[in-house]
Amino acid sequence: MQHDASLMCGVRRAAGAVAALTGIRSPILAARAVMDSSEHVLLVGPDATDFAARCGLEQRPPAWFVTAGRQRQLDRALDLERVVRDHDLYEEEDDAPMDKGTVGAVALDRDGHLAAATSTGGMTAKLPGRVGDSALIGAGTWALDTTCAVSATGHGEAFIRHHVAGRVSDLVELAGLGLEAACARVLAELPPESGGLIAVDARGQLCLPMNCGGMYRAWMRTDGERGTAIW
Ligand code: ASP
Repeated sequence: MQHDASLMCGVRRAAGAVAALTGIRSPILAARAVMDSSEHVLLVGPDATDFAARCGLEQRPPAWFVTAGRQRQLDRALDLERVVRDHDLYEEEDDAPMDKGTVGAVALDRDGHLAAATSTGGMTAKLPGRVGDSALIGAGTWALDTTCAVSATGHGEAFIRHHVAGRVSDLVELAGLGLEAACARVLAELPPESGGLIAVDARGQLCLPMNCGGMYRAWMRTDGERGTAIW
C-alpha cells in the first residue's frame, strides 16, 4: 500500500508533498512535515517514509491499512487486469463504497488565505512506484490567495496530463474567468468519467463539479450554512 499526499498554502506558495509513502498513518501529515521541516516540496518512497518517521509521525504495519472490502476490490481488479478508482468494482458484500478513499479539502480563512490538501491510496491495482496527481502540486492540489484553492480526485493520469488544479487557477488569473467557468472548462477538457474537483476562490465562492457519476462532498461556511452531496 503506497500513499500520495500534498498540500499548499496560497499565501506564500508554501507546499509539501509525499509520494509512494508506506506505513505512515496520516500521509497528509507527512506532506505537512515536508513543507514545514524541509526546504523541499516533494519526497518519495522509503526516504519519504524515513523522513516522516524522523519527524515523529505515527507508523503502522502494512496489515493495518488493509480492509476486507478493499482487498476483494484489489483481487477483482487484478483478475480483470484493470487499474480502477477507489470506488470502482465494489459489490454489496464490501464496505460502503466511498467512505474510505481519496480525501481532499480546500479552505478560505478569515484573513483571506486559501489552502488545499489531498491524500490518497491512489488507483487500485496501480503498479508499485506509480505516482498520481494527488502528490503533484499543480495537478491534484493547488492554492494561490489571488485566485483559488483546488483539490482533485479521479483518474490521476488524466489530471496530470491536463494539469488540472493549476489550470483552473490560471484560467481565473490569466483569462479572467469566474471559478465556475474555469472549473467547467477544465472538466470539459478531460476524458469522460475522469473524476471531479473541489474549489473555493478568494471571495468564498465554492465549486464542486465532476464529470463522473458521484463524488462525496461536504461544505461549511462561517455563517453556519453547511451541506453534503453525493450525486
Ligand atoms: N487521483 C488519485 C490518483 O490517481 C485517485 C483518486 O482520486 O481516487 O492516485
